[in-house]
Amino acid sequence: MLNTSIYFEIKKTLPPKVTLVAVSKTKPVDDILSIYQCGQRIFGENKVQELCSKFESMPKDIEWHLIGHLQSNKVKYIAPFVALIHAVDSLKLLQEINKQAQKNKRVINCLLQIYIAKEESKFGLDVDEAISILHSPEFIALEHINIVGLMGMATNTDDQSIVKKEFTQLENFYQELKKDNTIAHCNFSILSMGMSNDYSLAIDCGSNMVRIGSSIFGNR
Ligand SMILES: *Cc1c(COP(=O)(O)O)cnc(C)c1O
Repeated sequence: MLNTSIYFEIKKTLPPKVTLVAVSKTKPVDDILSIYQCGQRIFGENKVQELCSKFESMPKDIEWHLIGHLQSNKVKYIAPFVALIHAVDSLKLLQEINKQAQKNKRVINCLLQIYIAKEESKFGLDVDEAISILHSPEFIALEHINIVGLMGMATNTDDQSIVKKEFTQLENFYQELKKDNTIAHCNFSILSMGMSNDYSLAIDCGSNMVRIGSSIFGNR
């Protein structure tokens, strides 16, 4: 049995404006149900197939977030139900999400993943790439996309000053885009940053959505 007291402890430390995404990847349905029974309704998964099978078998009032990298050819499987896609990192992917959203008569909420870490990572846009996508005619044509904010992952290091610098950089870019009312299909309200190891610092730096897995569910 999962120890749910840790979940309540974490919930207690979160300011009211911060939304908790319980990251349930690799965890069995029974563990997820334990957290669901504590009142949690937002869960995050990083793999499309796992997300779809959990969606099928779990209560239908759960809001499912895809937090991991998404390949264009898999968008169709999640388009009917996904509540938020966190890691959008290309115009091509946005075009496919738009197409599948249209087929499902939906507008799909997305976050742009911004690359802030020092580590070599394959995923995420840099600031210039994000701006250029948001101002492109191809993007402006996407009526079934709603960009609700940004997501980022800091370097995995014990050096708090590095992590703080990266989160602050993302927060600054978020505030800049939020103010910019010349961009289509954007309604910025979510800054998704912070995981088990760094969520307190992320919140100090302006995060209002944290993605917490191992602290709630135990190590994977
Ligand atoms: C796994 C994962 C998390 C949660 O990580 P923990 O360290 O277990 O809290 C958050 N965000 C993304 C994108 C992940 O893949």
